[in-house]
Amino acid sequence: MHRDIAEVLFSEEAIRQRVRELGRAISHDLAGREAVVMALLKGSVLFFSDLVRSIDAPVKVEFAWASSYGKGTESSGEVLLKVFPEEDLRGRMVVVVDDILDTGRTLSAVVDRLRNELGVTDVRTCVLLDKKARRTARIEADYSGFPVDDVFVVGYGLDYADRYRNLPYIGVLKPGCYGA
Ligand code: 5GP
Ligand code: MG
Repeated sequence: MHRDIAEVLFSEEAIRQRVRELGRAISHDLAGREAVVMALLKGSVLFFSDLVRSIDAPVKVEFAWASSYGKGTESSGEVLLKVFPEEDLRGRMVVVVDDILDTGRTLSAVVDRLRNELGVTDVRTCVLLDKKARRTARIEADYSGFPVDDVFVVGYGLDYADRYRNLPYIGVLKPGCYGA
């Protein structure tokens, strides 16, 4: 285990199994239709790459960059958003993939933008982690991997100041490692 990690919450194996289940659920709901699966950079990229491999349906991939966090662990409240669709998304089904649903501000801003500005008729959301206790926006994910308590987690794509994304598991950072 990395020396900055106090506790592992979700092991590599637990993540692998749960991601497969999410992929199966999405495949089932798509029922052979083609979906656009959209990763929110950067946190969701590891989850995203495993998830698309467990979806058994035709998919296209797109990317968007959304951020409400600076270098700290608290949301600034403002959501910066860039969507990079290569193709016209009007009338498409889009599954937005994020690492963690916290206050919900990021995901609801992305969903609004896709619906209202990009004309997406069918938006679904998929997150690996769900911190229900912190929700302020009215949004729930259509697919969610694990509930998580109100602790700051890193690994498997999740960062603190852009570090720890490459850890294969998800864990809690030791308190002394913030601001280091
Ligand atoms: P929301 O807009 O739902 O408050 O924030 C969602 C974003 O906040 C996530 O995509 C993620 O980047 C960040 N975030 C929220 N909680 C955590 C956490 O525990 N660890 C990390 N690394 N990022 C988090
Ligand atoms: Mg994020």
